[in-house]
This record gives sequence, C-alpha cells and structure tokens, in this order.
Amino acid sequence: MTDRNAYMTNELQAIFDQTVNFVAKEVVPNGDAWEEAGFVPREVLTQMGSLGMLSLRIPEEFGGLGLGMLASAVFSEALGSSTYGGFDVTVLVHTDMAGPHLVNSGSKEQLEHWLPGVLAGETILSIGVTEPDAGSDVAGIRSSAVKDGDGWRINGTKTFITNAVYGDMTIIAARTDTENKYGISMFLVPSGTEGFSVAKKLDKHGWRSSDTAELVLDDVWVPDSQLLGTPHRGFYETMRNFQNERMVIVGMGVGAAQQAIDLTLAYTQERSAFGATLFDLGAIRQRMAMNQARIDAVRASMYHAAWMGDNGQDNVKAMSGVKAFGCEVINQVMYDCVQFHGGMGYMTESAVDRMSRDARILPIGGGATEVMLEEVAKRSYQS
Ligand SMILES: Cc1cc2nc3c(=O)[nH]c(=O)nc-3n(C[C@H](O)[C@H](O)[C@H](O)COP(=O)(O)OP(=O)(O)OC[C@H]3O[C@@H](n4cnc5c(N)ncnc54)[C@H](O)[C@@H]3O)c2cc1C
Repeated sequence: MTDRNAYMTNELQAIFDQTVNFVAKEVVPNGDAWEEAGFVPREVLTQMGSLGMLSLRIPEEFGGLGLGMLASAVFSEALGSSTYGGFDVTVLVHTDMAGPHLVNSGSKEQLEHWLPGVLAGETILSIGVTEPDAGSDVAGIRSSAVKDGDGWRINGTKTFITNAVYGDMTIIAARTDTENKYGISMFLVPSGTEGFSVAKKLDKHGWRSSDTAELVLDDVWVPDSQLLGTPHRGFYETMRNFQNERMVIVGMGVGAAQQAIDLTLAYTQERSAFGATLFDLGAIRQRMAMNQARIDAVRASMYHAAWMGDNGQDNVKAMSGVKAFGCEVINQVMYDCVQFHGGMGYMTESAVDRMSRDARILPIGGGATEVMLEEVAKRSYQS
C-alpha cells in the first residue's frame, strides 16, 4: 500500500506514475497542436498501446492486465494531469467507455478477433448510443436493426460520437424489438462498412483535441458475427457499463482540477498586488483551500465507489452521486481558478481557460447531473 489513498496498491501507484510521466513527456508539449488539429495523432495511441497503457481492463487471457475499476480510477485521474481534456477523453472512450461493451459482452471469437488491435491502439473504438432525438433517455433511440438473412440491416443517425471521425469501429445501439421499449441490441460496425458514414465532424466549446462525429447508418448490413451480446438485451448490457463510464469522467476531471488548483496556487503566489501577493489575500487563500478540500472529497468518494464495484457491491447510487456532485465541484473549482488568474485566465494561452471549457461537458456527458440525481433519489426510498 502507498500513502496516496487507502485503496492504492504498489501496482496501482505504478500505473499512476507511468501515466503521469507519459502525459508530461508526450502530451503536454504537443497538446496545443492537437487542439488546433482537432484530433490526437494515431502514433500517440499506438505508442500507448506498445507501452501496455491500453490493456488495464482487458482480461489476462487476451493479453491484458485484467484489472478493475480502481485501475480505471487511477488511470483517468493520471490522464487528467495532462490539462488537455480532449486527449484524456480520446483515450478513455477507447479504454473505458466503448471498450467495456466489447470486453463484457463479446463472444470468445469476437474478443480473439478484435482485442489485439484494441490493445495495440490500432483499432480505436467508439460507442454510438446518442441520437439527435435521444440522449439522456437511452430507451428513446430510433435507430433500428432488422434481421436480414444471416445478418442485420441497420438504419439510423447517431450524434456526438467521440472517436468516430478517425476511429476504426463504433459499437452501435439499435432497436431490434419494436414491441419492447428496452428491446435494443448492440452491433460492431467497423469504419468503412458500406452505408456507414460520418455526416459531419462536429465543432465544440472544449475537448477540442477530441474528434466528435455525427454518423449515418444507411441500410448498413452486418453479419450475425457482429451482433454484440444477447439480442434485445443491449439496453441492460449497456447500462451495466455506465458506472465505469461515469467514474472515468469524474477521474479525468479530478486530475484536471488538481492541476488547475496547483497552477492557480503558483500564479497567485507569484503575482504582486496590494503590497503582497494575491495568495496573501485571505479571500483567495481560503477559497483555494476549500477547493482543495472539495476535490479531495470527490477523489476519495470516487475511489470508494470504484472499490465497491471491484468488491461486487452495487455501486450505482454511490457512483451516480459522485458523478453528480463531483462534476459540479470540478466546474466550481475551474471557475475559481479562472477568476484568480484574472484577465490572464480568460486568455486562450492559459491552461485554466482550456480546462474550464473542457470541464463544462462533465456534468452533461455520460449521464447529466439531473439524471444522476434521479438514480440516487430512486435508491433513497426507505422501505
Ligand atoms: C463532446 C461530447 C461527446 C460525447 N460523446 C458521446 C459518445 O461517444 N457516445 C454517445 O453515445 N454519446 C456521446 N455524447 C452524448 C452525451 O452522452 C449526451 O449529450 C448526454 O447524455 C445528454 O443527452 P442530450 O445531449 O440528448 O441531452 P438531453 O437528454 O436532451 O437533456 C438536456 C438536459 O436536460 C436535463 N435533463 C435530462 N434528463 C433529465 C431528467 N430525467 N430530469 C431532469 N433533467 C433532465 C439535463 O440538464 C440535460 O443536460 C457526447 C456528448 C458531447 C457533448
């Protein structure tokens, strides 16, 4: 055990250190160029693959480390130290938001076929659930797949799909049972499949080095071997993976907020004002102290919810609460960090400007705060 927190082991600490070091060496010097380009170059992802950084959640029998949610908590927090949320989410969608659908629902043949490329960073994954008319209400999706010979024919539109402009395979949710609102199935749809196209590369407020696609599925046919999991059970299988997705969104935000706090402490201790430094002003030092305490609280509850998941406990209430509370706290911290940088905090050359824009999506994506609070409330009735 290390002194970082009660759940850390030497192995988890090593993952944290390796990731922080990689980010400092390979991401920070290049992040601005990737923000400008609107995507993370493939070589970076294959480099991470060759270092084993994409393998944490892949079962050992398929060449991974077979680790659990705590490893993803550590990995996401360490990625967050990059200060480039667009880079962080590019990696985390692949490893922790799309990847778990394949790992948890894939057949042995599917895993043997796809995981080598996933591990190597050569097959970059995306997850296509959201549609123009259905986001929070997943059961409202309209994309449909109907049985056609020894495969399925898929039609529909997806939007806001991370990694789908430059990625290699999207896991698509489509309605397969018209009689049942929850009758959804998941399909593996590689880029280049006939009828499957990027309608638009979307422009965004933040996460600018991450690519985001609007996708069209126009009479796309896939063989039965590309149906993922049990037919019509995709809604439930998808929901199962959402705790991990919620957690890494918080994790990357905690890592970023800690960086923002550290940058703001350094800035306010250097900047002269009123005969001393900004940090000598009680209003600033106390608010930054409270921000540190709040981020420490979010971090601790995130690791605890991860530990619950790894120990077979139902962590939906805990993780939903962490997602709701944590993402709001992260945004409040970012607000203060911009505020205490003064005018410089509003300049695009400041890391806190970018981090505050990147943080804004955290309470919306992967389960909006209000949706998370409903999950907590539903589980709060006393019997
Ligand atoms: C940059 C980015 C990347 C994304 N990446 C992906 C991806 O890779 N794959 C994917 O499938 N999706 C992705 N999404 C979609 C994302 O998960 C959705 O935007 C999110 O789930 C909210 O859905 P919506 O945008 O349709 O908002 P809506 O569902 O229309 O909700 C709008 C707002 O209404 C409020 N609200 C919603 N439901 C409730 C409720 N029950 N009670 C009270 N208030 C409520 C919330 O404040 C919410 O923000 C991404 C989105 C963005 C912006």
